[in-house]
Amino acid sequence: MSDQLCTQSSAKTATLATVLQTGKAFDCSENKYAVEGPRVWVEIPFEAATIPAGIVEVQGDNNGLTTMQVHAVLDDGSIMSANFSEQAVTENWRPKGQYGLAIPGTEDPEIRNRIQKVYVTIDEPKVASSISLIQLASKEKWDDLKLPLSVMFAVLCGMAIMPLIYNWFFYGALRYDFMLWHSLMIFATVGYTFSSSGLIFIALPETSLSAKMVFNYWTLAIGIAASGIFLLRFVERGKIAGWLQTVIFLSSILPVIVTALVVRLDDGYSMDARNYYHASFVPIFLVVIYAMAHALRRGSRAIWFQIAGWSPIILLGLDRIARGMDLYIGWPVLDYGLYFALVLETIILALGVANRILRLRRRHESTLRDQVELTLLADTDGLTAMNNRRSFEREFKRNQREYRYSHLALFDIDFFKRVNDRYGHEIGDEVLRVVGKELDATDHFAARIGGEEFTLLMRNDRGEKRKNYPVNALTEICETLIKTVHDQVPEIQEPVTFSVGVSAISKRAALRSVMATADRRLYDAKHNGRNQIVWVDISAAKPVKPTGTASA
Ligand code: GH3
Ligand code: MG
Ligand code: MG
Repeated sequence: MSDQLCTQSSAKTATLATVLQTGKAFDCSENKYAVEGPRVWVEIPFEAATIPAGIVEVQGDNNGLTTMQVHAVLDDGSIMSANFSEQAVTENWRPKGQYGLAIPGTEDPEIRNRIQKVYVTIDEPKVASSISLIQLASKEKWDDLKLPLSVMFAVLCGMAIMPLIYNWFFYGALRYDFMLWHSLMIFATVGYTFSSSGLIFIALPETSLSAKMVFNYWTLAIGIAASGIFLLRFVERGKIAGWLQTVIFLSSILPVIVTALVVRLDDGYSMDARNYYHASFVPIFLVVIYAMAHALRRGSRAIWFQIAGWSPIILLGLDRIARGMDLYIGWPVLDYGLYFALVLETIILALGVANRILRLRRRHESTLRDQVELTLLADTDGLTAMNNRRSFEREFKRNQREYRYSHLALFDIDFFKRVNDRYGHEIGDEVLRVVGKELDATDHFAARIGGEEFTLLMRNDRGEKRKNYPVNALTEICETLIKTVHDQVPEIQEPVTFSVGVSAISKRAALRSVMATADRRLYDAKHNGRNQIVWVDISAAKPVKPTGTASA
């Protein structure tokens, strides 16, 4: 249709009769859409063979329109005219942001057959597509389509909004900023779908066509910018090179800048604006395609969601450009595809957001686990896996507040060097492990604080009020140790025995002084012949000798 259109501009006061009388030729050349206005006339051939049945209407882009007229010129030269106020043009909206104005006379088959030409008068058009997209269509068909299409768009908007609710819900707890960008993207996409589909005229009938146009332009520009920044924030760290991040960011905000510069509500608006506006989207499309390959090569997994989300948009965008350049005819139904693609993108990326959150959580948890493991290592003796000196000291300090232990016993294996020398380090290690395990099995706090030295923080057993506590308990422990080592390390011929120095722990006693006492008594035990427990200063009492196998 567009190549059969011809145009001309006139003053605001001109009528069709005066325009036809002046004899000024209509422009049918390539430049016909570069109109000056303020009143633009479009001449449309009306050939019975090609026009739809029933009432015929003229359709075109309704962005920013004010007043319009539609005229039918009959075979006898008479003119039938219909005037449309801005309000009327708005009310006669068609899905996808078009107007649909009935051609007078087409409701009567007799008159319809006599129509030779149709003229459309557009006052101060804002976009070339109000002219270039002009086509004739069946009014009934479009009236019938209005409801199902509106329902379809409403469903699309509803689907796109769902991830928004979910984003809000989880952002409160998780605070990943890509969720905010995703939300902005959804807002803009839904806003764009809502306004450009025509739903806006159902929900807000007072909306002017200029306001709708500005809203369209802004929402699409913001949506694309938010998508670009979302891409930056969403893809794993290090999967997009620094320079490319800058390029993505700049090309993302380009449409917003261009929109701010060229799209204004006032009358200074120029028809070229739409071209600049559309051109401003080209860089981000190309950059996104490049960034996808780039991130994929760097092993990003998040980028797969971007690829799935963006591919339909890019393909449909290319389809639109190709059809716009008349490279092929294509199916007009693909015009709706872009809405589906936009909504599909928000949904696919919502899945991506969910997946990314799961992965970030998992990584967070494994970091926590590593930390626990490190602490464990820091507090654990490598050979025996029991508490080390560090955790012993911490437990001792804790005891100054809680007072759970009344005695400290310091164990030292007798003649351990000899065990190593005779049976090798491996066997020596085995003895240490067996001893550690046995001490851990007691209900006291056991630790390995040096090569073959162990401590026991012994429970504050006041409840039991056992006589000679903790000496009896320690004697039992030593006897068990001697026996267990004998059983579990059979290579060693002679009994492995222990010297033990014991110190009471008074409330709030310092570790240093308690250790000094226990150490002194351990020394006494060694000095006095080993294999014994010393719990008072040696001058005051006779030490206890454990029996067990060692007594043999
Ligand atoms: P004493 O009865 O006087 O305590 O004699 P001792 O031989 O046990 O004492 P000394 O302090 O002379 O020697 C301690 C030995 O413990 C020296 C070292 O070979 C051994 N040792 C220390 N740490 C380890 C270890 O992790 N594994 C093994 N196998 N041996 C160790
Ligand atoms: Mg020692
Ligand atoms: Mg020793």
